[in-house]
Amino acid sequence: MSTSDRYDVIIIGTGAGGGTLAHRLAPTGKRILLVERGDFVPREKDNWSSRAVNVQAKYHTKDVWTDKDGRPLHPHTNYYVGGNTKFYGAALFRLREADFGELRHAGGISPPWPITYDELEAYYTEAERLYHVHGERGADPTDPWASAEYPHPAVSHEPRIQQLHDDLARRGLRPFHVPLGIMLDEQRPNASRCIRCETCDGFPCLVGAKSDAQIVCVEPALAHANVSLLTNARVTRLETSPSGREVSAVVVERLGRTQRYAADIVVSSCGAINSAALLLRSANDRHPNGLANGSGVVGRHYMGHINSVLLAISTTPNPTVFQKTLGINDFYFGDDGFRHPMGHISFVGKLDAIALSAGAPPFVPNMTLDAIAHHSLDFWLTSEDLPDPENRVTLDRTGDIVLNYTPNNVEGHTRLIRKLEFLLQHLDDHMHLVPRNLFVGNRIPLAGVAHQNGTIRFGEDPRSSALDRNCKAHDVDNLYVVDGSFFPSSGAVNPALTIMANALRVGDHLAARLGAGARAAEEAMA
Ligand SMILES: Cc1cc2nc3c(=O)[nH]c(=O)nc-3n(C[C@H](O)[C@H](O)[C@H](O)COP(=O)(O)OP(=O)(O)OC[C@H]3O[C@@H](n4cnc5c(N)ncnc54)[C@H](O)[C@@H]3O)c2cc1C
Ligand code: SF4
Repeated sequence: MSTSDRYDVIIIGTGAGGGTLAHRLAPTGKRILLVERGDFVPREKDNWSSRAVNVQAKYHTKDVWTDKDGRPLHPHTNYYVGGNTKFYGAALFRLREADFGELRHAGGISPPWPITYDELEAYYTEAERLYHVHGERGADPTDPWASAEYPHPAVSHEPRIQQLHDDLARRGLRPFHVPLGIMLDEQRPNASRCIRCETCDGFPCLVGAKSDAQIVCVEPALAHANVSLLTNARVTRLETSPSGREVSAVVVERLGRTQRYAADIVVSSCGAINSAALLLRSANDRHPNGLANGSGVVGRHYMGHINSVLLAISTTPNPTVFQKTLGINDFYFGDDGFRHPMGHISFVGKLDAIALSAGAPPFVPNMTLDAIAHHSLDFWLTSEDLPDPENRVTLDRTGDIVLNYTPNNVEGHTRLIRKLEFLLQHLDDHMHLVPRNLFVGNRIPLAGVAHQNGTIRFGEDPRSSALDRNCKAHDVDNLYVVDGSFFPSSGAVNPALTIMANALRVGDHLAARLGAGARAAEEAMA
């Protein structure tokens, strides 16, 4: 390996974790290499085509995994610079303060984190600034304390959603504006980078106005001469020194060739499933069960949330363009009738007939998909699944991914759906729901791995966790993981802001370890 292949830091993966870490470390002046298996998302009209995105799944990986019964699984995940943030809905939530402690659910215990909310709070604030989050502090009844206001005002509701908000508020609920990472300036529409379109959640942004990791972090990081990026570069294996205590080589497949790179610090941020697979593939004599897997937890405790889409079909049209502005957390921790957590209610992007045709077509007599799409309110419900060691990522004989998952803790989710249905039927305007066909919905299947987390958990005890509180492998001195795998439990809000905030936290630790903390801080202030 030549000295030009040696770096101070190698970051594998450029999504919410890796991209944010790169942004944090770029001002240190250290030589940093980003290794990304995907390319840039091509800028093309298909970015905003419902058919290309929802029917043809044009941007999904063509990798085929298998489920626990050996059935093929076509994962809804994307390999590009910026990772899955290129496609996310940009709902950027903090976990609730109580999510960091132990929580008793109907289906079991959600375990505590080794760090408290207070330790992450300043990083949440920074991540909200970095990702241009628009929100309204304190309107959400479960909001944790915060040291600053949101950097931008909340995104307004369109009339149909405002009407729903007002009806819910009259029933005594506290609906709120979802915190969103889009660069929308409603006061100065002509200057606004975001044009508030209907193809945001699930689509890449054609005009670069979504706060994704490529736009907000990777490109600014690459403006530093000390940072470089390898695209179409898939890391296949991490090799270790003879002692097993150090990653000595990052093995990359690129354009049909095998290349090797080395660094003082190696960070895996491939997403929770691929990082676990990478460590498992990197087993050697010193790490027979997979790299950094003395505890046996690598790949285990896979979580992905219990997610459902519920269409409430009303005779009142829903002409909303950007629907994902309203959230309901009144039942997040339960209510008088059910004293266990239920979860979070918000919206997906407005579904059109093409998107509906991609799923199992909801059967509503006398209504075309077009009519359904024009009348539905398209809710998104998320509940916490619990970390079960048998829900896990393993490898088959050829090294491909097997995702073994049995849903758990479903009672809270079922109650949340019933709760929403009941509420909608008893609103002041009665929603004018279509008789007998009020609701159609689907649980998101296993292939919907958007919220993947938990497979390389962090903790104080090396017997029950793979990473320490700084997300360094207990068993390897120069290996870190900063994607969603570090979560010991997942709460019931979207995960990306927590991954970003944690990457900033780990970035400060790494800058100090590299002796570059002061310089990075000065650059950040400049
Ligand atoms: C349609 C959709 C909507 C979503 N909406 C929201 C939302 O509104 N709010 C929210 O909080 N979250 C949302 N999410 C989830 C969010 O995008 C993820 O939580 C987040 O991106 C995870 O960050 P990460 O760093 O763990 O992984 P990723 O962002 O997935 O990044 C992993 C990166 O590693 C690369 N990689 C993988 N394997 C290798 C390898 N072997 N070698 C080199 N590179 C590799 C990948 O190409 C990718 O770029 C959504 C996701 C999707 C798909
Ligand atoms: S223009 Fe705005 S609403 Fe449309 S995709 Fe981009 S960020 Fe989302």
